[in-house]
Amino acid sequence: MNAKYKDTEFKLLDHSFGFYGIAFFGIILARYFLVAGGTYLFFYSPLRQSLEIQHQKQIPSWQSIQKDIKLSVFSAAIFAIASALIVSAYSSNLTRIYSNPQQYGLWYLGVSYLSVLILQDAYFYFTHRLFHHPSLFHWLHKGHHRSRYPTPWTSFAFDPLEAIVSSLFLVGIVFIIPLHFITLIAVLTTMTIWAVLNHLGIDRFPISFPHHWLGKWFIGPAHHSIHHLKYTLHYGLYFTFWDKILGTQDPNYEEKFARDFPEVIADKDYT
Ligand SMILES: [Zn+2]
Ligand SMILES: [Zn+2]
Repeated sequence: MNAKYKDTEFKLLDHSFGFYGIAFFGIILARYFLVAGGTYLFFYSPLRQSLEIQHQKQIPSWQSIQKDIKLSVFSAAIFAIASALIVSAYSSNLTRIYSNPQQYGLWYLGVSYLSVLILQDAYFYFTHRLFHHPSLFHWLHKGHHRSRYPTPWTSFAFDPLEAIVSSLFLVGIVFIIPLHFITLIAVLTTMTIWAVLNHLGIDRFPISFPHHWLGKWFIGPAHHSIHHLKYTLHYGLYFTFWDKILGTQDPNYEEKFARDFPEVIADKDYT
């Protein structure tokens, strides 16, 4: 990289850790309210409810939404500290983040993006199973499960210790795999959108999704909603791969979703 360019870049990123922390806290919180709040307004608006009343949708209580928002504010603070750590390490030239897209070839942008998602999915699956261990659940994961029927507000609701463990993946990966800024932003955007989708609610998405030949391989609201009903099933984040090979996916869940939602919710396997 051109030395002059690198110097200018360092100057632009030459702020204190505290400055980054506060700036990221604002950005992450604004992102949460915009994406989770916007999706909630769209999918849970009173007009939509009244139009689709025949589906007997599950309406989460305002009290549980408030609890989710409170936890999400703490999570935003933890992810802000993690982001400040990454940028401070980058400005000290300690990470493998790079800024010239040609450095590893354009093909590498896509490959590195997919690799991070695959690694993050595995990291999430195994840490998530660990959080459900009786001795850890209360400290690390109880907060996320307060909502039996999640909403987009649940997407970022983690106990502080769970948020620390989740953020460690990103803090670690930037020291191991070369990642362009664009790739990093693409991963963060995917993370945000996917988390909101997974917490859309059991009854808000086309029910054909789990049956689709491609949909079967991806986790979506139907798949993750079952995890909020039954803790021993469906631990994955993006892909159903780990749940399938390690036997934590309900083999009949696709078939159950072909029935009515009230029946799925009342299913003896999920109570
Ligand atoms: Zn869980
Ligand atoms: Zn969840």
